Amino acid sequence: MHFIDSHCHLDFSELKNDLNAHIARAHKRGVQYFIVPGVTYPQSAALLQFAKDFAQCRIALGLHPYFIEQHNDDAFSLLQTLARTHRNDIVAIGECGIDATCANIGYQSELFVEHIKLCNALSLPLIVHHRQSHHLIAQALKACPAQYGGVIHAFSGSLQQAQYYINRGFKLGVGGTISYTRANKTRQVLSQVPLESLLLETDAPSMPLSGYQGQANEPHRLVEVFEHLCALRSERPEQIAQQLYSSSCTLFRI
Ligand SMILES: [Zn+2]
Repeated sequence: MHFIDSHCHLDFSELKNDLNAHIARAHKRGVQYFIVPGVTYPQSAALLQFAKDFAQCRIALGLHPYFIEQHNDDAFSLLQTLARTHRNDIVAIGECGIDATCANIGYQSELFVEHIKLCNALSLPLIVHHRQSHHLIAQALKACPAQYGGVIHAFSGSLQQAQYYINRGFKLGVGGTISYTRANKTRQVLSQVPLESLLLETDAPSMPLSGYQGQANEPHRLVEVFEHLCALRSERPEQIAQQLYSSSCTLFRI
């Protein structure tokens, strides 16, 4: 079976020093490609070289709400120029979105809408970060629909919220959260939505699976996320793997 890790920060310091080993280990378990998102302007700019160094990695450019206080006033216009210049070297715009646990929600929302406009201008999908912010994300998507869809990274929420995104062309990112029994609501939702609406992700080095708390998450654990998902779904594992792989390829045009 083959897999794509649709969201992992392989350029972060926890993984970068030993990256060839991490990629080889994941590859041995069937993970063929990795989507590495942008989080700040300087890091997004550095990703362009990163993608040349690691052929299995595809990249996105974006300003993450978690770093809202680090983004300079000209960060988005620089990012925009970078994305337009390197349109053929990127597969999405993001990671962007709204995080209600971070500062400057108003500015976060404005910046998010700018990312959606950029996606639409470049015919690219959007990688969306949310935390306690579904209503704000929905407001932004109403003001400016994402014409090429995207993925709701680390989806957690109700069936109604899941359907809202699916109806607007979004996939739901399935990560290590589903390994925790306390995530019962999300687990139930992910067992019910159409298989075609799901993508696999680790968010490595973040979001360790149950049993690995306190450790850096690693991209080979994508296969364990997959096994947890299989336990929730009625389809055969081969069918699940095949559908998720092909959904990732279609969304990111791999
Ligand atoms: Zn992320």
